Formats: sequence, C-alpha cells, structure tokens
Amino acid sequence: MINLPISKRVSTMQASATLAMAQASRDLAEKGIEVISLSAGEPDFVSPKAICEALKKSLDLGQTHYTPVKGTKNLLKAIQYKFKRDQKIDYGIDEIFATTGAKSAILLALEAIVDETDEVIIFSPFWVSYKEQVRYAGGVPVIINTVEENNFMPSYSAIKNALTPRTKAIILNSPNNPTGAVISKSQLEEIALALENTNIYLISDEIYERLLFDDAQHLSPGALNDHMKHRTIVISGASKGYAMTGFRVGIVGGNKSIIAAMIKLQGQNTTCLPEFIQEAAARAFMEDGDLATELDHMCATYEERRDYALELLKKIPLLKPFVPQGAFYLWINATNFIGEHKRFASDHEMAMSMLNEAHVAVVAGSPFGLAGYLRLSIASSKTDIKKAMERIYTWLG
Ligand code: PMP
Ligand code: GLU
Repeated sequence: MINLPISKRVSTMQASATLAMAQASRDLAEKGIEVISLSAGEPDFVSPKAICEALKKSLDLGQTHYTPVKGTKNLLKAIQYKFKRDQKIDYGIDEIFATTGAKSAILLALEAIVDETDEVIIFSPFWVSYKEQVRYAGGVPVIINTVEENNFMPSYSAIKNALTPRTKAIILNSPNNPTGAVISKSQLEEIALALENTNIYLISDEIYERLLFDDAQHLSPGALNDHMKHRTIVISGASKGYAMTGFRVGIVGGNKSIIAAMIKLQGQNTTCLPEFIQEAAARAFMEDGDLATELDHMCATYEERRDYALELLKKIPLLKPFVPQGAFYLWINATNFIGEHKRFASDHEMAMSMLNEAHVAVVAGSPFGLAGYLRLSIASSKTDIKKAMERIYTWLG
C-alpha cells in the first residue's frame, strides 16, 4: 500500500488521556470483568426529564433543520438570561452564541485568536485538552505551575513573569478539572491586575460553575469590570451542571468581534447545534419550574459523595487528597507510591496496574501536567465509590 500521510499537527497530537482511560476500562468490561470506572468526568445522572421532554416536543414539531450558526432566537435568549443570572454579566445578543460542546468552543476561541508561535498561558494542573488544542491552533503552550498551598491557582508574580510580547491568551478554569479548586476573589483580582494595560485575552472555562461545595461562590472574571468583560471569553455549557454530556452543548460570551470571528469559523465547521438539541438546552438554561431544585440536588449529591470518599480515603493515609470546592473530582497526591525505588515508576504505571489488577479506572496526573498524582471522578454512586476504595485499599496492601 502507498503511504498516505497524516498531517503533522494531528500526528504529533496526544490523544485525550481521560477518554483513553474511559475506553481502556470499557474494553476490560467487554471481556466480562467488573470494572469500576472513576475515569472520565461524566455525571452518572440521567438528564432531567423536563429537558428530555423539551427535546421530544421539538422533534414532534419537526424541528430537524439547520438553524442560524449562532443558535435559535429561543436559545440565545436563554443563554443571555443564564449569563446574567450565573456569571452576572450582561451580554448583548451579538455577544453570545452556542457551539457543539465546550470542548469545541475552546478550540474555536483558540483558532480565532492564535497565530503561529503565539503563546497561550495555561496553569498546571490543567484539563488534558488545553495543551493539545493550543498546539493544534499553531500556538505555544506556556505552563505556569501552581501549588496546593495556593489553592492550585497562580500567584500575581508568576503570571507577570510569564507574560511576553507573544502572549495571546491565558486559560483559566474554575471550578477546576482536575483539582476541584475554586478561584477566590483576590486571586481573580490578581489575574486582572497582571493583565491590566495588555491586549491579552482571558479564556475562562466555567463548565463546572454550577457544581460548588461548602460555601464556595462562582466568580466569572468578566463580571469584575468592563475591561475584564471585554477581554474575557466565557466558555460554559450544559454537560456537567445539567447532566447533558451527550447533548453536546457549549455556550460562549465575549466581545462582539471575537464572537463574530468564532461564529464565522463555526459556519465553516459544524454549522450549528441540532435544532431539537437547542430547544432542550434553552429549557435547561432557563432552569424554571422544578428544574433548579433537581439540579441543586445533583450538586448536593456530589458534595455528599466527596465527603464520603474523603472519609473512606482516610484508611489509606499514604494517599493524600486535596479537598475540592467544586466539580466532581478528587485530586490525590500519590507520591508515596510513585517514583524511583518506590512501588510504581510513574503515575501512568500506577493507574494501569490499578486498572488491570484492582479493576478500578482512574486517570494518571501527568497528562494534567502534574506527575505523581491520580484523578478520581466522584460522579459515581456511593456503592461504586465504596467498592472502589475497598479494592484500592486491598490492592495497595
Ligand atoms: N472544560 C473542562 C475543564 C472539562 O472538564 C470538559 C469536560 N469534557 C470540557 C471543558 C468540555 O465539555 P463538553 O462536554 O461541553 O465538551
Ligand atoms: N471532561 C471530562 C474529563 O476530564 C470528560 C472527558 C473529556 O472530554 O476529556 O474526564
């Protein structure tokens, strides 16, 4: 056969580690092994009935056509309302649009602003897709390491020192995947201060905004002041807080010109969300009737599971979890087991051995930018969390 080459951009791209681990656990399950998957971060709740009903009604009305690229009037109105309610940002109708998932929204944002060799700052630990998406868009990821003592958020001086004339954007993710950290007001103000008098974008990935524990508050950088509103591209969606991963709904807020650029790009790519999905998403974002209560209950359930899992983890004191304030992950320091002359050479080896020997799927820390850690999803039932912890306990011996 002749050699038909794949582009350099794609052949040098790392596959998504979260999705790869979810697939590895599915493969094992298909062989008849009972695997407990705490790998991909996906709500285990069925999407709320009211949302599914809105979708069915839309199908019955024959709403199965192309729509405007940015979304239907009904959806745009719901997004506008949602951003005002949750982000506390008042966007005009030409400052918002809908995409096929937040993942695609982030890529559209990067492709719309990054030129070859532009730098994009990412705080580590980071969600696995950011680095690869920056590279794919032609940019250079610049990593700022954060520490647990500072809530896994960057300091003002670390940001200031990382800025160069090539810096195009910073990506912020709060509540954070993988740590579950939620940025504080003062930390957000430090980012705003570091960016003052620059023409650098802030891409704010707020996909976990609805999943907050204790008394944590969600703060969107765009709500700080007009300059921050202008430079911030807010990314959110329906996947996590609304348990709608399979609907593939992302939403974006930003200044008119960046939104117009992203819509132009989407018009040459996926075109638009399916019409009936847009009807369901509009229903979700309005959160009317009993929906808000149902969604709040999901969040309270994740919090309960967090506390339950943290309690169980006390039996394995050599694993040191960070206490998350949001999202649905446990970010665990496993360096007591990982490293030279330790039981596992790497976090990857530990995660793979755990999968193959204890039949529990978790994701290694390295693809999130911090070796020696493991990420466990707690978007699973208490029964599964208990079984998983017992298996890990026995397996570690
Ligand atoms: N950002 C973060 C931090 C995520 O964890 C995810 C989860 N996949 C996404 C974005 C993408 O979400 P979506 O399902 O809307 O593409
Ligand atoms: N965001 C989830 C995770 O981090 C889902 C998988 C993915 O899209 O990466 O596990």
